[in-house]
Amino acid sequence: MQAVFGGPLPENGEDAASIIADLAGRGDAGLVAIPGGRFFGLVVGGTLPAALAADWLVSTWDQNAGSSTLTPTTVALERVAGEWVCDLLGLPTDAAVAWVTGAQMSNFVCLASAQHAVLRRAGWDLTRRGLRGAPPVRLVVGEYRHGAIDRAARFCGIGLDELTIVAADDQGRMLPGALAAALDATPAGRTIVCLQAGEVHTGAFDPFAELIPIARRHDAWVHIDGAFGLWAAGAQDPTLRALTTGIGAADSWTTDAHKTLNAPYDCGIAILRDPEDAVAMFRAGGDYLVHSSLDPWDVTPELSRRGRGVPVWAALRSLGRDGVGRLVDRLHDNAVHLEAALRGIPGITVLNDVVYTQVMFRLEDDDATRTLGAAILEEGTAALTGAVWQGRASLRCSMSSWATTADDVDRTVAAIARIVRDHAAQ
Ligand SMILES: *Cc1c(COP(=O)(O)O)cnc(C)c1O
Repeated sequence: MQAVFGGPLPENGEDAASIIADLAGRGDAGLVAIPGGRFFGLVVGGTLPAALAADWLVSTWDQNAGSSTLTPTTVALERVAGEWVCDLLGLPTDAAVAWVTGAQMSNFVCLASAQHAVLRRAGWDLTRRGLRGAPPVRLVVGEYRHGAIDRAARFCGIGLDELTIVAADDQGRMLPGALAAALDATPAGRTIVCLQAGEVHTGAFDPFAELIPIARRHDAWVHIDGAFGLWAAGAQDPTLRALTTGIGAADSWTTDAHKTLNAPYDCGIAILRDPEDAVAMFRAGGDYLVHSSLDPWDVTPELSRRGRGVPVWAALRSLGRDGVGRLVDRLHDNAVHLEAALRGIPGITVLNDVVYTQVMFRLEDDDATRTLGAAILEEGTAALTGAVWQGRASLRCSMSSWATTADDVDRTVAAIARIVRDHAAQ
């Protein structure tokens, strides 16, 4: 595609309409059908119509969402969207909400704020004195955390070898006994415990109601990475909602709007119980910046940015609480439907308990599993992602798109059954 669009920098300008026609025409060959109903790769989600059109407006308005004095409409919409998200997820509506590019940056905002806060409690002002020479901060993570946690830790100056890694069960849920043992082994305070809502392979949720009280007894900060899983709190199905029982007791939460909520890229959300913790870390300061009340740039790493919370306002208005609940339920229904159908295909083993939106499966043999993954992509009915789960090649389907229907699932299963049968016959 680089050859298609490349060549030397044009010496002279061109007509805008013809550039856009060219872009739309020739760009097509290199696009992936992520907004379609049979894209099950990674955990991506599609785009709701209201959110898409709101995103166009965000670009058209061309507002700088960093400052409330500069852009009242954008900032107000983001504030309302933030309160709605917290309300929907059962989190405090007076929490600080930072709009960032994704869960990666949200985890960074939360962990950086957490590090600042636990050091402050230990009498160390990170803002003035920096990290060198600071009392050590211990970051406690689960064995099956997302890779974004390790990167966020690195951005905070915490290296891989410094992490305290707590064992998990076969679905990737942190074991309460192992957390208690890990925390008992070291002094209280200056500890951040990082939990997870929605393991990316199995969809499993850490048992928050058991884990958070253990962390609290050790005076630890509790962070939850719920990039796609936190939305289970908004489900209508009580069994789905129960997966998130206890999340409200944490100090900070990460989620994405561009996954389960089906807002367009890019949109991650960082939520901090005490706004002061985010402000202490990220306050823009500087004489040239106008401080009225809390400005968006006081709680995020960015100064200038687009109003990426505006499409979330539109998405939530278009769905309502009821619609979000039904969307989450439907993603889960699709996953359960897929799981049941896959179990009926000879040779396929489903590897996880389908508690949420993720379905993982494989054939008996690793090479055959990888070949199947490539053949499914080649055949073109559906797209899914290869994964390594507990040392074995696996395939993973993520139900994340509002556009996926039961018929999409049926067509996908029929294609997989056909491919498995054809390969077995060879
Ligand atoms: C997707 C995901 C991330 C990273 O999110 P981005 O939006 O890609 O930055 C982090 N944690 C979990 C659990 C995820 O599923």
